Amino acid sequence: MSLLSVIVPCYNEEDSVALFYQELMKNDSFFRQNEIEVELLYIDDGSGDGTVTEVKKLIAEDERVHLVSFSRNFGKEAAMFAGLEKARGDYVVIMDVDLQDPPSLLPEMFAGIKEGYDSVATRRVSRKGEPPIRSFFARRFYRLMKKISKTEMMDGARDYRLMTRQMVDAILSMREYNRFTKGIFGWVGFRTKWLEYENVERARGETKWSFWKLLMYSFDGIIAFSTAPLMISSVMGVVMCLVAFLMIIFIIVRKLIFGDPVSGWPSMVCIILLTSGINFFCTGIVGQYLARTYLEVKNRPIYLVKEEI
Ligand code: UDP
Ligand code: MG
Repeated sequence: MSLLSVIVPCYNEEDSVALFYQELMKNDSFFRQNEIEVELLYIDDGSGDGTVTEVKKLIAEDERVHLVSFSRNFGKEAAMFAGLEKARGDYVVIMDVDLQDPPSLLPEMFAGIKEGYDSVATRRVSRKGEPPIRSFFARRFYRLMKKISKTEMMDGARDYRLMTRQMVDAILSMREYNRFTKGIFGWVGFRTKWLEYENVERARGETKWSFWKLLMYSFDGIIAFSTAPLMISSVMGVVMCLVAFLMIIFIIVRKLIFGDPVSGWPSMVCIILLTSGINFFCTGIVGQYLARTYLEVKNRPIYLVKEEI
């Protein structure tokens, strides 16, 4: 017998909890045929609705269901990390509770593991049902990351992924506070098989990610997996010095040929504004990295558990 841990982060998902359970257990005969035991870990990310009650109802009926409940909302990244820490399985899979990660793909994923892959990941090839502006920025993000980061990140990749114990332990060894799991998966390496599927819309409830939250999340990703933005200040510094040098020569020559009536106040103001703007911009970039370092150095726990069943 081998054990499969299913990790399901939930934040205000009372309508989806039971539905997800039913959908997952449709694979029951597959699990039995392949001698796979299942443990289902609902990670309640500080929900304010009846999510915990719903999970407890399931626990009363089925001892394979477990609950880890956070003291407040720590974010999906923290929930996934908690799940990976608590999971005891030989295989671990992470899934969204809203059924956007179809549990029916599990047999195909296991087939990949049997072929000898260390992990089987999923990506959606379409983004239908998503606001066009969101898709546009998501595509830009992945294209940018391909250029500025050495870590592989696949466009449209989901967090839905089946992994062996070895890979889970590798991920757990990365204890960083600012977690960007899509990058971490790529960073640890191992052989990954990609399954593609059409985007599925949320079964119940609403998305927890506003456009703004996603934009901030993408900055987290860039800062966590690339230091290219720090180069911007060096490059700008060099360019500004070159420009200044040319200006000095130009002004000296002009003085020698035409004499120099005192003038040029507007151009001076423009130059001061431009350079100080660039200065602030570059300090800001450095500040972003420094802020992350600060949080990292504090070494705070990634999540706090209030209740565990
Ligand atoms: N989620 C979470 N904590 C959060 C936000 C989301 O655990 O702070 C969970 C949520 O319950 C869901 C999954 O993460 O199971 C994906 O969230 P959502 O469906 O809202 O994201 P989307 O699919 O729209 O990107
Ligand atoms: Mg979703």
